[in-house]
Amino acid sequence: MSVTAILALGSNMGDREETLIRGIADLCSHPQISVQNISPVAVTAAVGGPEGQPDFLNLVIQIETDLRPFELLEYTQSVESKHHRTREVHWGPRTLDIDIIEYGNMQMSQTDLTIPHPRAAERAFVLEPWVRMDPSAELQGVPVAELAKKAEDRDGIREIREAPVVCA
Ligand code: ADP
Ligand code: MG
Repeated sequence: MSVTAILALGSNMGDREETLIRGIADLCSHPQISVQNISPVAVTAAVGGPEGQPDFLNLVIQIETDLRPFELLEYTQSVESKHHRTREVHWGPRTLDIDIIEYGNMQMSQTDLTIPHPRAAERAFVLEPWVRMDPSAELQGVPVAELAKKAEDRDGIREIREAPVVCA
């Protein structure tokens, strides 16, 4: 049975826009993933981690998949690795980060996978692109539009760019 899921992609190293586009193309190319919608891009100041990091480009996508949550995580992590994601510095610069924000109505909390993503509800760089992609979106029954207004890091968004066109 296929499930609708929301993924958040972020990049703040290298050719950030190109990395996001190629990451989305990798997701599209999986036979059990269909990308249904792509949000505009939030240009966001890096929060936490080392000083002076480049800004992030962040977006969310809506997919439909019949992969189970851990299968989806395994694939998103393989896409991160393919784009030379390194994990040396916690919250440091990364070529590509892919988080599973929501997976149908699933709620799970395990060491390697918590769904919905525990910090999504307070991250403007997830919420703002998401509500622009889908103004009626809800996260666990709460309108994403409301969460986005309350997010403390709202001012960290410097600019919103048009959604990339990938796997159209
Ligand atoms: P972050 O995205 O919080 O900056 P990482 O991308 O390095 O950090 O993720 C660290 C770990 O988070 C991953 O190894 C993964 O197992 C775990 N994780 C837990 N829940 C999720 C989720 N919903 N989506 C993606 N990764 C998750
Ligand atoms: Mg991550």
